[in-house]
Amino acid sequence: MLNFENLTKLYGERPALDHLTFEVPPGVVFGFLGPNGAGKTTTMRAIFNLVTLDFGKVTYKGQPITKGIAKNFGYMPEERGLYSKMTVLDHLIYLARLHGVSSNESKIRAVRLIEELEIKGGGGAKVESLSLGNQQRAQIAATLISDPELIVMDEPFSGLDPLSVEIVRRQLEERARRGNYVLFSSHQLEVVEDMCEEVAIIDSGQLIVSDKTDALLTAQDQYVINLVGEGKVSDDLLNGIDLIERSPDHILFRAASLEEANHVASKFMALGLVESFLPYRLRLSDVFREKIEEIRDGR
Ligand code: ATP
Repeated sequence: MLNFENLTKLYGERPALDHLTFEVPPGVVFGFLGPNGAGKTTTMRAIFNLVTLDFGKVTYKGQPITKGIAKNFGYMPEERGLYSKMTVLDHLIYLARLHGVSSNESKIRAVRLIEELEIKGGGGAKVESLSLGNQQRAQIAATLISDPELIVMDEPFSGLDPLSVEIVRRQLEERARRGNYVLFSSHQLEVVEDMCEEVAIIDSGQLIVSDKTDALLTAQDQYVINLVGEGKVSDDLLNGIDLIERSPDHILFRAASLEEANHVASKFMALGLVESFLPYRLRLSDVFREKIEEIRDGR
């Protein structure tokens, strides 16, 4: 586990982090969310001892993170930095060599990453000549070239078009599948909803929620029936149902238990009206907004 334990950081009187506690398991793509200024960058920098905490600690597999341990980590910071006059290929080889990878293996890895991330010009182009999106892919390749067991990325998807998002997504998912740690911050909630098995949401340096995405997005008491055909539902049939929303192709209703929801659905099934019947899945953007509003109202 990567553990954040009571992280507290003051800038003047203001806490950027306020007893922030959560953990990131291996083998999942983990999304780190929060409004602007919530403390995401400060938290990620704390992993690498780039901020001096006033209180609390970050541990990895139960140990404090020494320089030796952090060598196995990859960090893509907010402020990007590649040597603009170097070609992408040379840059990646150079970084791999810095990590002690052999010359031959460095080249193999660099060529493979350039190919997999579909970096324009096949790595032969100088960084400065690339479009912003391609520079971003090169930056991602630079983070992954050492094959880090823990990957931390600050806004890796900002500025990427949907195709590039898919390409980067494949990289991160594959690495999580291999058992690595993958943590990134993002304001692109649709991407996070699609990609991340777990998320943490913070605000004002405090944890709001940390959970499996599925658990967070499954409404406990709301169910949806997708209808076969259109407009065949009589008002009679809807009698006694705690209806939230009705359209020609679905009804959304509230039920106190799965049993009660099943009872409703069975009435529709008996009439051959049901295409599918499911617990209602919320949108991450709605959950995000509601949770932030809830916590701010309570402050
Ligand atoms: P964003 O989504 O806008 O990137 P963030 O969640 O990454 O925001 P941080 O950059 O961690 O937020 O900042 C958290 C708080 O700490 C903000 O109020 C910020 O102004 C403050 N802060 C961060 N670094 C410093 C610093 N070096 N000096 C003073 N205040 C700072």
